[in-house]
Amino acid sequence: MPPPLQARVIGAGPTGSLAALALADAGWTVSLEDPLRPDQLTARRRAYAFTQSSRRLLENLGLWEGVEPLLVPFHSLRLLDAALQRGLTFLPDDLPQPSTSGSVAPIGWIGRHAPLMEHLLETLVRHPAITLQLGETASSAASTPPQLVVAADGPASATRTALGIGSWGWDYRQQCLTAEVELRGSEPNQAWELLRPEGPFAVLPLGNGLTQLVWSAPASRCRQLESLPPAAFLDSLMAVLPDPLEADALREQPRSFPVGLRLARRLSSGKTVLVGESAHRCHPVGGQGLNLCWRDVAVLHRLASMAATGSMAPHRIAAAYGRRRWPDLVLVLVATDLLVRLHSNRHPLLLPLRRSALALLAAARPLRRLVLGVMTDGLPRLRPGRSLASLAPW
Ligand SMILES: Cc1cc2nc3c(=O)[nH]c(=O)nc-3n(C[C@H](O)[C@H](O)[C@H](O)COP(=O)(O)OP(=O)(O)OC[C@H]3O[C@@H](n4cnc5c(N)ncnc54)[C@H](O)[C@@H]3O)c2cc1C
Repeated sequence: MPPPLQARVIGAGPTGSLAALALADAGWTVSLEDPLRPDQLTARRRAYAFTQSSRRLLENLGLWEGVEPLLVPFHSLRLLDAALQRGLTFLPDDLPQPSTSGSVAPIGWIGRHAPLMEHLLETLVRHPAITLQLGETASSAASTPPQLVVAADGPASATRTALGIGSWGWDYRQQCLTAEVELRGSEPNQAWELLRPEGPFAVLPLGNGLTQLVWSAPASRCRQLESLPPAAFLDSLMAVLPDPLEADALREQPRSFPVGLRLARRLSSGKTVLVGESAHRCHPVGGQGLNLCWRDVAVLHRLASMAATGSMAPHRIAAAYGRRRWPDLVLVLVATDLLVRLHSNRHPLLLPLRRSALALLAAARPLRRLVLGVMTDGLPRLRPGRSLASLAPW
């Protein structure tokens, strides 16, 4: 039997960690490196929205059982255009439901970074095919060079720079402020996406009345909000929350971070692939970011499995990965950008367009299914004989 194929994964954030587990699941031996120590990797205070595409990947990797208890599902998503004072609610019926399971699948899940990363790191440590180099500068190359290098070293990727791969994109004038807040008035397990003239605003359930706010606004406004004492912050929050939401308490110091759109000009070079935010970034509207990163991993997993079983030459993986990821990445980046541009204003010419789009979405279930299907699964790969509802993201 030939020795297992070898991969080197650079960066142990949520994308690199999952990529290492996916490659090991495909039968490869993997080294995973990051200059941060495990406690630093888990220390970030943020929460992610997870869609069905992420659930499917975790299931395929045998990780869902361990991750699901760490997440809070949401069964309805209230979308509101604040300038129009109109909205609609997406329900699980608007999502293609798996035909095999008797229970209704939620629209998505919310999970905090720390417990998720702790779980991924524990699984990595236990995996016999994975070698971890965390909290140190990577030592010299392994005895045999790997057949695949996975660059998951984040938005400032040194690997991308070293390969001379440029990127397209821009920074938004908006920043994004996050905070955990106790809220009343929302249905249990309901998420909110408010499209406000100053920027999108998401309210994500964390369980027990706690919510994560993802509040986009002009940079100066975010800085001002960050500096407010808790009572004044809650007053500002109450001024923007729609009925019937009411804020009770601030659970942590709000923090803001810059947001931008960026896409690497190439997704691979030689035997190196760019995954996660080393390849792309988008606005947090619609909670697409980490799901898009993990769909990179889903494609890599499939290609790595083909290489491990001999149905694809390992040196073809990088180019095949690049070709397969473009459509989904472009779709999500364009869609999130359009949402931000069309809705972060009160432009009199756009208001009727937005009103009609909302009315159409509210009236036409097939359209709601299409929109929610793309948001939750990315761009389907159309194959003859398959209905749109049954399609997987690639
Ligand atoms: C301040 C901030 C707050 C955010 N809040 C939210 C939020 O609330 N909700 C949300 O959905 N998203 C949020 N995001 C976005 C989210 O964090 C990203 O989508 C996600 O982290 C992408 O994961 P990644 O693994 O691709 O990249 P990263 O998480 O950036 O991981 C990259 C990893 O590579 C490592 N690395 C860097 N250089 C090297 C090197 N030379 N060698 C080896 N390793 C290296 C880094 O140490 C890091 O661990 C936030 C982003 C920021 C910056």
